[in-house]
Amino acid sequence: MRTLLILGASGDLTGRLLLPGLGRLLALGRTAGLTLVGAGSDDWSRQQWRDRVAGAFRDCERPDNDNGVRQLRLVAGQTDYHRLDVTAKGALAGLLAALEGPVAVFFALPPAVSQKACEVLGPADIPEGTRLVLEKPFGSSLESARSLNRTLLRLVPEENIHRVDHFLGKATVFNILGLRFANRLLEPLFSNQHVAKVEIYYDESLALEGRARYYDHAGALRDMIQSHLLQVMALMALNAPASLKERDLRDHIGSVLRASSVNPDFARSTRRARYTAGDIEGRRIPDYTAEAGIDPSRGTETLAEIEVSINNERWAGVPFILRSGKALGRPQKEAIVTFKPVNHLPTGFKGVDEPTRLRIGFGPETLRLEIDVNGPGDIFTLDRAVMEAQLHSADLLPYGEVLEGVLAGDPLLSVRGDIAEDCWRIVEPVLQAWAENQVPLEEYPAGSHGPAGWGTSRQDRPLE
Ligand code: NDP
Repeated sequence: MRTLLILGASGDLTGRLLLPGLGRLLALGRTAGLTLVGAGSDDWSRQQWRDRVAGAFRDCERPDNDNGVRQLRLVAGQTDYHRLDVTAKGALAGLLAALEGPVAVFFALPPAVSQKACEVLGPADIPEGTRLVLEKPFGSSLESARSLNRTLLRLVPEENIHRVDHFLGKATVFNILGLRFANRLLEPLFSNQHVAKVEIYYDESLALEGRARYYDHAGALRDMIQSHLLQVMALMALNAPASLKERDLRDHIGSVLRASSVNPDFARSTRRARYTAGDIEGRRIPDYTAEAGIDPSRGTETLAEIEVSINNERWAGVPFILRSGKALGRPQKEAIVTFKPVNHLPTGFKGVDEPTRLRIGFGPETLRLEIDVNGPGDIFTLDRAVMEAQLHSADLLPYGEVLEGVLAGDPLLSVRGDIAEDCWRIVEPVLQAWAENQVPLEEYPAGSHGPAGWGTSRQDRPLE
C-alpha cells in the first residue's frame, strides 16, 4: 500500500495539475493500491475534498475503460482530508505517524511554507521510506537552495527527495535522448565540430493568468530558465549515458551543468524585457505593472534571454541561447540546432543561403529537419526541403509522469540536489547584474514578438 499525501489540498497546483495528472495515471492502470490523503489549513469537510478530487478525476473517465473508472472512483471515494497548519511543530509529524506507509509527501504549498514545514520536522518524525516531493522554485538563490538541501538531507536520503521539474515529464523533452542517441545520423554531429549554435525557446502567449504575486517575485529567468530550460540544455548537450537509470542520467546532466556559465559581459550575453499593454487574440492584456500584486520598482522581467557556454571538449565555442517570455504574439516552444556550413560546396551550386537546422518542438510536439536538396527546376540550384514529423505526446500528462516516478520511488524525472544548486550558480551572476541595472530593462507590447531587434532567432546577430 502506498499513500500520497498532498499538502495544499485547496491550492491551484493541486486542482489544475496534480489531480488531473494523478487521474490519468489511475485511469491507465499505471498505479494501483494507492491511498490519497489531502491536507491544508482550510476548514474543509472530508466530503468537500472528495468532491474536489472526484471533479478532477471525472474528466479522466473513459466509458470504454471500466477498470480505470473503478480505480478513479475508488480513490476519490476513500480519500481523507486533514486540517492542519504544516508549520506548527508536531502537526505534520502527527499526521505522518498516523498514515499507512510508505508515504510520498507532496508539498503543494507556497515555497516559504514548504521550507518552514521541513524545518519543524526532525529525523525522528519521518517514518522509514517517506519521500519528500518539493515544487519549484527550489530556493530563490544558490545560498537558499543549499540551505534547503541541508534541511531536507537531515530528514531523508537524497534518493527519497523529489525536486519536481514537470518539464522532465514532457514526452518531447525526454525524447531528445532517444533522438540523439538512437540515431547514428545525429549523434556524431552533436558537437562543436558541426554545430554553430543551439537555441532553446519557451515563449508563451499566456500572460500572468492570476499568478501575479508569485511571478513578480520570480520573473522569466527564475521561473523558466533556471528551473526548466537549463535541464533541457543539459539533455541537448550531455554525452550518452550508459543507461536511463537515474544515477547514470543525472550524473551526465550534472556534468554538463558544472561546465556551464554565462559570459560575464552581461550587457552582451543577456537581455531582459517587460511587456506593456497590448492585444493577444482579441484579448486586451493590461500593462504588466498595472496588474494587482505587482511592485513596478522590483523591475521584474517577463522576457529573458541568456547565452550559456558549456566549457568542455565537446561544446567549447558553441553558444547555447536560452529564452523564455510571456504575453508574446507568436508562441515558440522549441530547441533549434543550427549546423555549420559544409567545409567546401562544389563550385557551381547556387542557392545555399540557409544553414541546416534540426528543430524539436515542445508543443506542438514536432520534429523538423531543414536541409538543402536539388529541387525542381535548374539542376544547379539548391532548394530548401523540410522533413517534418508529428510526434505523439505521452499518454500521461507531465504531472502524471512525475507522480508515477514519485510513487515508484524512482527520482529519474526529478532534479538532484547538486544539480539544483548548479542551476542557481549559473544564473545568479546574471540576476545580480540585472539588479544592478547593468543590462537595460527593455519593453515590448503584449502580443508583439518582443522588443525590436530580438527576432525569433539570433541568426541576424553575429556570433562571437
Ligand atoms: P496556492 O497559493 O494556490 O496554494 C497553496 C496551498 O497551501 C493552499 O491550499 C493553502 O491553503 C496551503 N497552505 C498555505 N499555508 C499553509 C499552512 N501553513 N498549512 C497548511 N496549508 C497551507 O499555491 P499554488 O498551488 O499555486 O503553488 C503551490 C506550489 O507549487 C508553489 O511552490 C508553486 O511555486 C508551485 N507551482 C505552482 C504552479 C501553478 O501553476 N499553480 C506551477 C508550478 C509550480 P489555504 O488557502 O487554506 O491557506
